[in-house]
Amino acid sequence: MTMLQGKIALVTGASRGLGKAIAEHLGHQGAFILGTATSEQGCKAIETAFETANIQGKAYIFDQKNFQEVSSFYERIKKEVGAPLILINNAGIVRDNLFLRMKTEEWNDVIDTNLNGVYHLTRACIKEMLRAQWGRIISLSSIVGVTGAAGQANYAAAKAALIGFSKSVAQEVASRNITVNVIAPGYIATDMTNAISQAHIDKILEKIPQGKCGMAEDIAFAAGFLASPQANYITGQTLHVNGGMYMV
Ligand code: NDP
Repeated sequence: MTMLQGKIALVTGASRGLGKAIAEHLGHQGAFILGTATSEQGCKAIETAFETANIQGKAYIFDQKNFQEVSSFYERIKKEVGAPLILINNAGIVRDNLFLRMKTEEWNDVIDTNLNGVYHLTRACIKEMLRAQWGRIISLSSIVGVTGAAGQANYAAAKAALIGFSKSVAQEVASRNITVNVIAPGYIATDMTNAISQAHIDKILEKIPQGKCGMAEDIAFAAGFLASPQANYITGQTLHVNGGMYMV
């Protein structure tokens, strides 16, 4: 399985959850993985996971909200490893609150991390993709970006914006063999969803025709497919991975 041999993939938020599973899956496909976390501890977790899974890669501290440091981070990875032609915009946060109670700080935290950070990093990475005449940009949106959710106006706004952003950029770079796609997961068991109460989980499960939550690997396989040469003719799309919870 070496479909991505010779490719460098940058996976943000690779320390845990979906990012970890995506990084490992792309690594098993032969890509060299640049995995990011926000702390030394997160980087250690990435390095250990790569070693255990026998994956080639490197871990970097990267805070997506720190816009001023995006270009120096990008120049560093380019110098140390090479330009990533696969970018997985995975890192994301939630700061849930009912809209009327939502603090501006909660709004800004989510928009800066989940949307503005993606803008800055994608801009940094896309130039070398244009030069290489090949690239894959895959961003993690959410079912909530399409359906909305009470208590998640900030998160839904950012996740919906990623879809419009990706469709627009996809049109601009399609002629250069760069595809820009979105994965919209439903309810997947990770640290992010661990905080949800059992009563709420039961309500969510009632709405999932498959009757179960998804696994991080379900998202990793979707990312692996969109990154692969087989997905060459797919761009500007949103792939919903949600057990039937929302059907487009
Ligand atoms: P987790 O909370 O489990 O992991 C989040 C990851 O993002 C961590 O690696 C974390 O790094 C990193 N991260 C957090 N803040 C920043 C930041 N400011 N800069 C850079 N990296 C950061 O999330 P999931 O794995 O569950 O989610 C991954 C993506 O999928 C997110 O974009 C999320 O919105 C989306 N998603 C998830 C769903 C789910 O059901 N789990 C459903 C729909 C969408 P660190 O370890 O250093 O904190």
